[in-house]
Amino acid sequence: MIEKQVGAANLAAVVIEPIQGEGGFVVPAPGFLPALADWCRANDVVFVADEVQTGFARTGDLFACEHEGVVPDLIVTAKGIAGGLPLAAVTGRAELMDAPHAGGLGGTYGGNPIACAAALAVIDTIEADGLVDRAREIGATLLGRLTELQAADPRIGDVRGRGAMVAVELVHPGTTDPDPALAQRIAAAAHAEGVVVLTCGTWGNVLRLLPPLSIPDHLLAEGLDVLAKALAQDAP
Ligand SMILES: *Cc1c(COP(=O)(O)O)cnc(C)c1O
Repeated sequence: MIEKQVGAANLAAVVIEPIQGEGGFVVPAPGFLPALADWCRANDVVFVADEVQTGFARTGDLFACEHEGVVPDLIVTAKGIAGGLPLAAVTGRAELMDAPHAGGLGGTYGGNPIACAAALAVIDTIEADGLVDRAREIGATLLGRLTELQAADPRIGDVRGRGAMVAVELVHPGTTDPDPALAQRIAAAAHAEGVVVLTCGTWGNVLRLLPPLSIPDHLLAEGLDVLAKALAQDAP
């Protein structure tokens, strides 16, 4: 599509989320990201991975691109980078990072020292507490429980994600038609019980679970119980 409709020569960069966030936690087919990265390299197009939501151990790799050995030219990060303190980062190959003049890449609050200290502590904590592995464990727990619910509930269309980034798609039973009203009700019912889930996806019918990587097993189980109860109580 790029070659036919845009023209590779007209393209400076491709920016892609290795797993779509707001878009509905869509995990690309195996091989898609490496093929796209290879195409970019062959065509002199900068490959930018938006790891704002997927980065810093969330998906069970330090960065989601690592899952398939993809090395982006640039990655953008934020969210998990500084444990809630406001910080975002652009990281990349030296020839790209050094291309702007000194001070040419920045913003009003760029490099805030307290947020940077928090980010260093986050990176230490990810290593010390084994949070990459923990994200995989959380993912196995989430997928296990949610596929169990799915087997008995035709309103659950798809369960997908990687690591501690898992989503549940809600549909009208027996179809693939999205049910955003149900997603809203379940999110509200869970919230009333103290469990925050967000909706996402093109049709707003996807519940996304992004538990903190520091969550203990009993709280994770309790959160899933609340979700299961909300679904049970909304049953027709
Ligand atoms: C939240 C989010 C953003 C926005 O990040 P800012 O640092 O607020 O600009 C960008 N991309 C993804 C994938 C996000 O989840």
